Amino acid sequence: MNPSHLPARVIVLLLAGLAFIALRPGTIAAPTSAVSPVVPLLAQPFPLENVRLLDGPFRDAMLRDRAYLLSLDPDRLLHNFRVTAGLPSSAQPLGGWESPDCELRGHCVGHYLSACALLYASTGEADLKKRTDYIVAELAKCQAAMPAKGYNPVFLSAYPESFFDRVDRAQKVWAPYYTLHKIMAGLLEVYQHGDNPQALEVLTNMANWLKFRVDRLTPEQMQRALGNEHGGMNEVLANLYAVTGNPDHLKLAQAFNHEAVFAPLAKGEDRLNGLHANTQFPKIIGAARQYELTGDQRFRTIAEFFWQRVALNRSYVIGGDSDREHFFPTNDFARHLSAETAETCNTYNMLKLTRQLFGWNPSATLMDFYERGLYNQILASQDPDSGMMTYFVPLQAGRFKTYSTPENSFWCCVGTGMENHAKYGDTIYFHGTNTLYVNLFIPSELNWREAGVTVRQETKFPAAETTKLTFQCVSPVPFALQLRRPAWAGDMTVHVNGKKQKITGPPGSYLVMDRTWKTGDQVEVQLPQHLHMEPLPGDSNSVAFLYGPLVLAGKLGTNGLPGRGQQAPNQLDFAKLPVPSAPVFSDKASAVLSQIKPVKGDVLGFRLKPAGGAPAISLIPFYQLHHERYAVYWPIGDLARATAGTTNSIP
Ligand SMILES: [Zn+2]
Repeated sequence: MNPSHLPARVIVLLLAGLAFIALRPGTIAAPTSAVSPVVPLLAQPFPLENVRLLDGPFRDAMLRDRAYLLSLDPDRLLHNFRVTAGLPSSAQPLGGWESPDCELRGHCVGHYLSACALLYASTGEADLKKRTDYIVAELAKCQAAMPAKGYNPVFLSAYPESFFDRVDRAQKVWAPYYTLHKIMAGLLEVYQHGDNPQALEVLTNMANWLKFRVDRLTPEQMQRALGNEHGGMNEVLANLYAVTGNPDHLKLAQAFNHEAVFAPLAKGEDRLNGLHANTQFPKIIGAARQYELTGDQRFRTIAEFFWQRVALNRSYVIGGDSDREHFFPTNDFARHLSAETAETCNTYNMLKLTRQLFGWNPSATLMDFYERGLYNQILASQDPDSGMMTYFVPLQAGRFKTYSTPENSFWCCVGTGMENHAKYGDTIYFHGTNTLYVNLFIPSELNWREAGVTVRQETKFPAAETTKLTFQCVSPVPFALQLRRPAWAGDMTVHVNGKKQKITGPPGSYLVMDRTWKTGDQVEVQLPQHLHMEPLPGDSNSVAFLYGPLVLAGKLGTNGLPGRGQQAPNQLDFAKLPVPSAPVFSDKASAVLSQIKPVKGDVLGFRLKPAGGAPAISLIPFYQLHHERYAVYWPIGDLARATAGTTNSIP
């Protein structure tokens, strides 16, 4: 759109807006919240800066992510922004969803900013800050250059503004506001973690441009525009409002509340069947944030009801959900074990929502789900050899994981994947007033500055069944240590300074130890893991086997696996490959479970030796299974299929 086509009244408003912007550059606030939550938060996360991961699988995944992020050339990431702004760029364009002809281009640049900022917060490494500082400065130049190309002032995108006109007119276009959300969220995270006031300046400029666009639409036109996937626009704008205190930013966030989705959820009605799954999660996270900032109970109802439906009724055993990107009827899981199950973005978003809900209601049910998704989908989604990421996680037996390429995929799940492994420290601990929650058993060190307490958690969990917390306190300090007793840990034992503690409460609760803590205090926890099983929701003929929180996958060999480390430019490149038959058991599920035994000397390795002399199957944690075909769900007692001769017919 060219401003010369605008009516005079709009131009006057625009000039007024420009004057407003011009008067404002020196007024950037320090990175503290201007607006605090108006509802009581019973538990809050610690800033990522205060948690450091120690050696273990999560730190390994973080380091692989770091290597990938630093391998990407910032000038290639910036190419489409510069071209759109009419600035010179000699960089070779990236491929996949960042290629110059893809309508989603620019989205991964936003995720990249978020990931580098989160990783900077997690490690303090200056090279990550250098990256974000450079990209933000270059984006500011692009933003300043846009009017010379005929775009409205302070517009910023990697594609023309006309894409947004197409949304407003309900014309076909991929998802411009989805991309905008990622860029805005990236800038906000660079501001919050990266000590970069320019990021907030570019971001508030974008919000000014957004206000100009949104103000032109009637509420009905805006709701129609929200039929197009728009990420978490309401969330990032609510977060921006929390930083600036500018009521315009809250109003903008509210303009992006999608009533067609919110209205039934607010009434406790699950009308999610058939909806594109990943389109919905960010809207709900935005609702949750608005509950905190406005106290409007309706948003809490929406967020909690959605969580219950998806986490407890619509999720596979790995914590993921959806088939072919869509929600399906909850009694229909048996028809939805395909090559396209469990889009990884969905679980990225569900974990974000889960930890937000934990702040209102610190329950072990929430953290049990969080842990399930964290190990069995998020950690499982990164290839340990290449650091590349999954899009779908196929749950059809006999399939394998397909990973992104470094420079020619840039799917949505690559963007969220960049962030996944940069922020493992964000949920291990939460705190309340005089309360410290230990949610996850991940080796780490927490610096609880306000209390003058450092906690070092040393553990090899899940490879070992113990964890040890050692306290250092500036002076003795009374607080309640709330230690998660997972639902899977029926016989957990706890010692404080060698003294056995009485375990109260059932599995799936928090054990409270309220005392005065001092330097040298130690809490030792035994977390015995056991083999157990879960049916496919609504289908008792298929079960998954677990060990503690870990989903076990059967190793089904590498026959017919594509080369190049199963990396693909397109997420569906291997979806049409033939799938070999997978084992079927005619025994009862409990009998099959009893046939699984640990392999001596192989930590977390198991062997399933079926009755009747069929070949044994090796089982390992799903997060460790890469570059091989697998089964997660096993048909049980299915005599029709078993007698058809497919029992244990591993290729
Ligand atoms: Zn995705």
